[in-house]
Amino acid sequence: MSMTHSRALTDILIADLMIPSEKVAHVQINNPLEHALLVLVKSGYSAVPVLDASYKLVGTIGKTAILNQTLGMERFEIEKLSSIRVDEVMHRDIPSLAKEDPFLAGLKTVINYPFVCVADESGYFDGIVTRRTILKAVKRNIYTENVSQ
Ligand code: AMP
Repeated sequence: MSMTHSRALTDILIADLMIPSEKVAHVQINNPLEHALLVLVKSGYSAVPVLDASYKLVGTIGKTAILNQTLGMERFEIEKLSSIRVDEVMHRDIPSLAKEDPFLAGLKTVINYPFVCVADESGYFDGIVTRRTILKAVKRNIYTENVSQ
């Protein structure tokens, strides 16, 4: 049974919903785009977190940003993928949450993003919370409310 089962949404913390870092696919800031695209295609995700060498969160990178970089006048110049690094293309201006943040902070963020990264006060990556997880908690709450009426 889920930890969030039948709990009020206001009692749920980001930590309760988080996919922990060890289960999250990520790329490193110095990786070539070729490696990042490989991770994205193999995992099936449209974007993943980017971490530095000390596992601090620095941004996210997605398939669209990578493919845009290779877009030439008439074709995708795929050969460029090995010479451009992740830090040249990634999104740095991303929201992030802390494990102690309330459910509502997660709900607000996933309105505009399919997932949000979670980091500690020093910037070390803790995991992610996805729109799917947030919506499942809302659905569970609606069902529970209906049953108890
Ligand atoms: P979902 O809501 O499960 O479809 O996930 C939304 C997005 O969150 C995916 O497209 C990925 O960008 C990201 N995501 C979900 N799970 C993972 C994971 N285990 N590792 C890396 N990224 C993930």
